[in-house]
Amino acid sequence: MPDCIFCKIIAGEIPCKKVYEDELVLAFHDINPQAPVHILIIPKRHLPGAAELAPENSAAAARCLEAAAQIAKEQGLESFRVVTNNGKGAGQTVFHLHFHLLAGRDLTLQLA
Ligand code: AMP
Ligand code: ZN
Repeated sequence: MPDCIFCKIIAGEIPCKKVYEDELVLAFHDINPQAPVHILIIPKRHLPGAAELAPENSAAAARCLEAAAQIAKEQGLESFRVVTNNGKGAGQTVFHLHFHLLAGRDLTLQLA
């Protein structure tokens, strides 16, 4: 997707602070963190959002969640939140599927 900022990050055309990478997913620090730990985990194959998930493309999404668990373990995070926004009304601003991994502050009072 030529105009997708996350595809450009995957292609190395835009820099990121990488946390984790494998053949299916990339994880990097959010540029505008909403918590002391705010990492984005994205599938390398472009998919606009969670609404497009289907049996033929869900393996990468599952890997994103596995990566979240691994990163949380590596960073010693006992409590964390994983969230994905689908659609403008849910606050989605980048239309390439991504999971926010949030931690490091009290996350009990609000959902995101
Ligand atoms: P959402 O609002 O759920 O679509 O989340 C998009 C997220 O991408 C926001 O938290 C942004 O701060 C983050 N973001 C946008 N551009 C970049 C970038 N170049 N590097 C890292 N994070 C970014
Ligand atoms: Zn993309």
